[in-house]
Amino acid sequence: MSPPATTADEVDLLIGRMKTAAAPVREILREIHARYADNDEGKVADYIPELAKADRRRFGITIATVDGQVIDVGDCSQLFTIQSISKPFVYGLALEDHGLEHVLSKVGVEPTGEAFNSIVLDEKSNRPFNPMVNAGAIATADLVAGRDFPERVSRMLAMFGAYCGRPMYIDNSVFMSERLTGHRNRAIGHLMLNFGMVSDRIQDSLELYFQQCSVLVSCRDLAVMGATLAGGGVNPLTKQRAIQQPYVKYLLSVMHSCGMYDYAGEWAFRVGIPSKSGVGGGIVGVVPGQFGIGIYSPPLDAKGNSVRGILACQELSERFGLHAFESGYSGPVLRDLFSPTRST
Ligand code: GLU
Repeated sequence: MSPPATTADEVDLLIGRMKTAAAPVREILREIHARYADNDEGKVADYIPELAKADRRRFGITIATVDGQVIDVGDCSQLFTIQSISKPFVYGLALEDHGLEHVLSKVGVEPTGEAFNSIVLDEKSNRPFNPMVNAGAIATADLVAGRDFPERVSRMLAMFGAYCGRPMYIDNSVFMSERLTGHRNRAIGHLMLNFGMVSDRIQDSLELYFQQCSVLVSCRDLAVMGATLAGGGVNPLTKQRAIQQPYVKYLLSVMHSCGMYDYAGEWAFRVGIPSKSGVGGGIVGVVPGQFGIGIYSPPLDAKGNSVRGILACQELSERFGLHAFESGYSGPVLRDLFSPTRST
């Protein structure tokens, strides 16, 4: 994969030029942000000790369209670790490296209804249930190709760089913290090794998994990543392809059915936007053909989803008919409130 074609400064300049284009959307996002900013429910994750340092007041919402308009409100440049939101994107890399059938032979696509870190494999096939739970994500990380460990890590970072349009970095403190305390994930990796579902380089793959979870992103990055998927795999700011188009639907499918921990079914039912959340407090949502949504707010509910993030996405979906299975909808349409073309 070639490096991002556009520097971070150039991307910021492009975003600046487009800021004036979507004032009505900005007002709507400000209103939603203000409604939930004072909600103080939830608890910042602390099972990875370093995550407990997050400032619970931070709250950002970004929408990025497939034609490259980016609207942010609140703490949208604050960097935090991507955590589980990395999972669908690394799944995409594994699909590109091995093709659908091979990946399916190693990782299923069935929702579990179980906690993300449950130690459970499909009884018949010994496969992890899906790539969004830790077992499936570790098996997926094991599939990331490369001659050696450094090459696998740099391919993973280049992949995120293509989605975000900038060079990517790992938060070393979070990585070390997770590495020191990640015994459960190691147990899952070794259980899968016992069943022959992962390769004997599983130690490296666990390190790769801890690193992918520690990649630093902002909620603006998440929105651009979502917009890249919404646009069939091409980053709307840099025009660089981040993933081959035929695989995009598989990422969105697992996000839709399994992306929001053991709230995934109710999320698909109520909100209907393929999404993935992480214990760092981020959520990425994708409205195919239209835009990506990025949210950052660290306090989590009991299932591990950002409390304010859930409320904001729910309101966006209900107010603008964004549910994937909405039909005959006649209410306001969010994409109509953007300027029709990108003004570069
Ligand atoms: N790195 C975290 C873990 O493996 C990711 C969890 C998450 O965001 O769901 O426990």
